[in-house]
Amino acid sequence: MTATDLDAYCAAGQDRFTGELVEFLRIPSISADPAHGADVRRSAEHVLAGALEAGFTRAEIIETAGNPSVYAERMVDPSLPTALIYGHHDVQPVDPLDEWHTAPFEPAIRGGDLFARGAADDKGQVWMHLKAVEALVRARGELPLNLKLIVEGEEESGSIYFEDLVAEHLDRLRADVLVVSDTAMVGRDRPSLTTGLRGLAALEVTVSGPGADLHSGRFGGAVANPIAALAEILAGLHDPVTNRVTVPHFYDDVRELTDQERTSFAAIPLGDGEFLAMAEGAPAAVGEAGFSTLERLGARPTLEFNGIWGGYAGPGSKTIIPATAAAKITCRLVAEQDPGRIAREVARAVTDAAPPGVSVEVDTSAGGRPVVTPVDHPAVQAMARAVTRVFGTAPLFLREGGSIPPVEIFSRRLGMPAVLAGFGLPDDRIHAPNEKFSLDMYARGIRTLAHAWTEIALALARPRSTV
Ligand SMILES: [Zn+2]
Repeated sequence: MTATDLDAYCAAGQDRFTGELVEFLRIPSISADPAHGADVRRSAEHVLAGALEAGFTRAEIIETAGNPSVYAERMVDPSLPTALIYGHHDVQPVDPLDEWHTAPFEPAIRGGDLFARGAADDKGQVWMHLKAVEALVRARGELPLNLKLIVEGEEESGSIYFEDLVAEHLDRLRADVLVVSDTAMVGRDRPSLTTGLRGLAALEVTVSGPGADLHSGRFGGAVANPIAALAEILAGLHDPVTNRVTVPHFYDDVRELTDQERTSFAAIPLGDGEFLAMAEGAPAAVGEAGFSTLERLGARPTLEFNGIWGGYAGPGSKTIIPATAAAKITCRLVAEQDPGRIAREVARAVTDAAPPGVSVEVDTSAGGRPVVTPVDHPAVQAMARAVTRVFGTAPLFLREGGSIPPVEIFSRRLGMPAVLAGFGLPDDRIHAPNEKFSLDMYARGIRTLAHAWTEIALALARPRSTV
């Protein structure tokens, strides 16, 4: 493939692009921590300045009841297609801090990787989009389509106010296609695009016994222990042999995989050994019977325990029967599963399983619905051509195990098809200590997106009426 003006512009600018990303990553925009509120605002202002610098012609901070988002646009011609880019400028918390090899907000380059919280998720990928726009505007003089950009400030704390923002600005955000770079590829030389995301439902279960901790010598054996009750309830939520979730109606709205879907999952060259290496050395791949690892991740729902607490956990022993024990549960959802319905079904199963002598309380919160874009959608195929051009090989089409609630909000509220073109790698350790972004993927991402806008503009062009 011959290099073009765009490739030349990107190659010449790459060191500066990396320097700019390093500056962006220094801002500790942790949205979940109110102590970092001012940092999240500073990060929004940084994106706004970067968008204008890159060639967006209008940009503003959009306030929400939580942390601020940034909106920007460059409207070229109303007869051209319009795309909306979504990303987020907030990041996950950094604990446990002592596991980081270098400080999370002092970006460090080692072995071609840029280490910092937010490097891959999602600041690096947001900055990639700004630089792709810059390349088109500077090297070609204009964009081939109208572009809108929304960069959220609280994706990592659940996008709680993002739906209100979208509802308030529906017309401004409307576009022919949504493009999101907040996912990973299968591997450096195995490019992939994501065409499906799982949904999410969340619950917190609290089991209560006595009104206060009791002395286990004076009361033990004669009252129920909330930790034992909680453990029994949680253990009953999976079948010990098949690993299937036992909650009634849990699988009612899950579509069985077609032969074609099973064939395409099987075509993805990722063995369990390689998968386990990415899973930080987990000793074995374990999941629902009858499905491969990739099928479990992309096309099957789960029920996971995310945290459990109760009683005394300090040094030595403390002879108590604790007053309460609690756990956090989340379910990853697929196909037509409704988060509200699943949360209710799990809550009912948990309450029904309560043994005598304790009371159980369940708080539920529904996250996003699952999202799937057809592989043959013209915008997906256009992005695939840009990926092929830069990576030298055609992308695989994946369904990803994670959820991106804003994508679900755009899909439900505006009916926009989503193209999920992320340039992370599976070992980027997002949400964990030592998060990194490959500088090679950063560079390829910028070039791919610059080419993609041209391909997408052609693919979505409205036929001109002849007079
Ligand atoms: Zn993200």
